Amino acid sequence: MALLLTNATFIHWETLEFINTNIVVDEGLKGGINFHQNLFDIPNRKNLTTIDCTGKYVTKSFAVGHHHVYSALARGMGAPAKNPENFVEILQYVWWALDKSLDREMIEASALATAMACAKAGSTFIIDHHASPNSITGSLEIIAKAFDKVGVSHLLCYEITDRDGEEKALLGLEETDEYLKHNQGLVGLHASFTVGDETMKKAADLMRKHNSGVHIHVAEDKEDEQSCLETHYKWVVDRLNEFGLLDSPKSIFAHCLHLDDYEKHQLRNSKTWVVENIESNLNNNVGYFNGKDLGERIFLGTDGMHSDMIRSAQAAFFVGQGHDNIDFALAYKRFRNVHYYLAQNGFSGDGENNLVVLDYDTPTDFNAGNFLGHFIFGLGANHVQHVISNGKMIVKNRELQTVNEDEVLEFTREQSLRLWRKMKGSLIGIGSFVVICWP
Ligand SMILES: [Zn+2]
Repeated sequence: MALLLTNATFIHWETLEFINTNIVVDEGLKGGINFHQNLFDIPNRKNLTTIDCTGKYVTKSFAVGHHHVYSALARGMGAPAKNPENFVEILQYVWWALDKSLDREMIEASALATAMACAKAGSTFIIDHHASPNSITGSLEIIAKAFDKVGVSHLLCYEITDRDGEEKALLGLEETDEYLKHNQGLVGLHASFTVGDETMKKAADLMRKHNSGVHIHVAEDKEDEQSCLETHYKWVVDRLNEFGLLDSPKSIFAHCLHLDDYEKHQLRNSKTWVVENIESNLNNNVGYFNGKDLGERIFLGTDGMHSDMIRSAQAAFFVGQGHDNIDFALAYKRFRNVHYYLAQNGFSGDGENNLVVLDYDTPTDFNAGNFLGHFIFGLGANHVQHVISNGKMIVKNRELQTVNEDEVLEFTREQSLRLWRKMKGSLIGIGSFVVICWP
């Protein structure tokens, strides 16, 4: 089944060229797009599903470079029992209390909520980093099924770590091994400071066995570097390099805020990609990203805070004014670099038949020459009207076509309350409504 987008203004995502055209979009992982100036030249036109795109802009859909399904049910949750005073305490009292409470149903709800939010904000591909220490086995399959149901493509990993002991570390390694036998994915590691040498070596072996890469938090906070120096007598990137983790072009290092010059040199001269998550860094008060000397391989993520990649790019630009040598073009380049990462490594699900149709009424002229100004100051997720994933329309007129949104949201709200109740001992309150009703 193919789609026909008529009378569209197509914006080429690389050249920013504006083309007035009709577009035939083929379905499937290998489907492409074809431009036709004249509608009557299109063979079998009557068999195509036609979408009138008069006055609309069509361009390649977006991809999230670093997400966390596990955080989806945290919105509105009560404050932690102890007020975190630093980044490690934020992990201990918020995220590690939350991820330990996740069960299979909650993981499914988190994945559905994440996929829906991404799709509605224009992203059709999600690179996720998952943790659920008391429900490890099969967790990636649950997420993959939920993403498939909504219709978004994915590159998943399970966060391997020693923070919960040897047994959980082994289960994380097993989950990764099992998932990578049948799916595209990565070898997830939490961060250098929670992974000992033995587990790190096993993860590196898994990476090589499956010809994959690692997906790890690197120098998000100074503590990661400090702990590495005290325990291993070297900086984090140097340590990861000794395990061969910089050798794969599939490897993703998230954050990279506190690297010294030698680490930057190592990273720049490796094949590894860096993911910037600027709003999460602001939220955790861990410092500011600066791409200087990190090389060209930088793309953007949301780190589980939200699912809106245009917002991430705009934040990268605005915050970067004081901390990074960034301009409109570089913010857009980082926003789009994820497509090169996915294509270069042969991951499927991000072909040319992944598109967004933007309903963007602007009071000023909009053209190839000033696209970047509109991208930073005008465009938003609210302009995403239709989303086409692998040639299939998954969002039409801002509504998901693949799942019943009301039913899914009822399920996710139910699961969020279950999660918060389960975390009762870790939170002061668990959302205003529940606080009032708490027995
Ligand atoms: Zn993260």
